[in-house]
Amino acid sequence: MTAQKAKHKIIVVGGGIGGLAAALALTRQGVEVLLLEQAAHIGEIGAGIQLGPNAFNALDALGAGEATRQRAVFTDSMIMMDAVDGKEVVNIQTGENFRKRFGGPYAVIHRADIHLSILEAVQHDPLIQFKTSTHVVDLKVKKGGVEVIDADGNVYKADAVVGCDGTKSAIREKTIGRDHRVTGHVVYRAVVELENMPEDLRINAPVLWAGPRCHLVHYPLRGGQQYNLVVTFHSRKQEEWGVTDGSKEEVMTYFEGVHPRPRQMLDRPTSWRRWATADADPVDEWGTGLCTLLGDAAHPFAQYLAQGACMALEDAVTLGEAVNRCRGDLDAGFRLYESLRVPRTARVVWSTREMGRIYHAKGVERTVRNLLWKGKSQEQFYAGLEWLYGWRKENCLEPR
Ligand SMILES: Cc1cc2nc3c(=O)[nH]c(=O)nc-3n(C[C@H](O)[C@H](O)[C@H](O)COP(=O)(O)OP(=O)(O)OC[C@H]3O[C@@H](n4cnc5c(N)ncnc54)[C@H](O)[C@@H]3O)c2cc1C
Repeated sequence: MTAQKAKHKIIVVGGGIGGLAAALALTRQGVEVLLLEQAAHIGEIGAGIQLGPNAFNALDALGAGEATRQRAVFTDSMIMMDAVDGKEVVNIQTGENFRKRFGGPYAVIHRADIHLSILEAVQHDPLIQFKTSTHVVDLKVKKGGVEVIDADGNVYKADAVVGCDGTKSAIREKTIGRDHRVTGHVVYRAVVELENMPEDLRINAPVLWAGPRCHLVHYPLRGGQQYNLVVTFHSRKQEEWGVTDGSKEEVMTYFEGVHPRPRQMLDRPTSWRRWATADADPVDEWGTGLCTLLGDAAHPFAQYLAQGACMALEDAVTLGEAVNRCRGDLDAGFRLYESLRVPRTARVVWSTREMGRIYHAKGVERTVRNLLWKGKSQEQFYAGLEWLYGWRKENCLEPR
């Protein structure tokens, strides 16, 4: 793409997983991208992330699949345990049969490592110009183009804008408006070194311990040299959406009825970060004319399906394909993209909420949950996951 003149210029606001992926997807259609990021350095927080085969299909389409595979840990299964009696409820195998079925692996990876894998592809792309320390505060839509304004008053002009600026998106605020819903569920995250991880929890799988009004998750990172720990509970306080430093004392008060095996992990981190989470009810459109949204800016989720970043990657590939299908008519391409992504991500929002309820069941609801999954075959689990993990670039312009 170096010699040819780009057909259009699009501003991508936000250099998270979604923004980097969007930039790559657009340059693959011959579009020039100006990527604006508020942070001084592009990077990610210290925590892990799970990636389904749909994410790997998207990463392959963006040219970042191999680099991600090099840094990921491929799991043997996905496990759900009952956090009260310590018994296994679900074990979905993610080996050869899973990969064949969904055309990609299930993996866990440090967030910095997946971010870097996409960033490397961005840095090698001559059509992407990157600007850090640029906090976007305003957007003006003009005839045939947009102007994006940063906190220092600088004005950036382009043919269109894609807001990939996360849950508190300034672009969403200026276009369709923000309307989030604080879940009241609080998440604590930490990464511990291998030697600090209890030996009986060193399992090559995302293991979720489902408890009453809470759950705990752990999985390996970086070749098993580190472990990601995530604990979630229904807060007793009125929560405000955001991230703060956590306290071990608070965590310990929420897991008193939990089996000693998962409970031992609460003692291990030396510091925790605390997320008061939010999501948003799905909306019909993510923009009009020459503006659209992508990733958490478009569809903030809670984390129960481990699909927020996976969906941002799917969004990016679909956006590129939609712009291509509409032969560079950006308005038409953005609307086609939204018509496909709004229903898919709405299904994920609602399924995620339902999954949160099921994980946190107590009393008879817990008994029914455990019976529901007991004795299911691998094939039955795979069939239930087909709608989620069966996404591919080749079918991304078909409604699903
Ligand atoms: C506890 C937890 C666990 C999770 N686990 C998983 C998982 O296992 N698998 C999974 O797929 N997903 C998971 N997710 C979801 C995933 O983290 C997000 O969906 C994903 O990171 C969203 O990426 P994004 O690029 O859309 O937004 P972000 O990562 O929020 O990136 C937005 C970027 O925009 C920048 N920005 C913001 N405002 C401005 C502005 N005004 N001007 C310029 N730049 C701006 C930010 O600095 C940031 O770099 C989890 C989330 C949580 C909270």
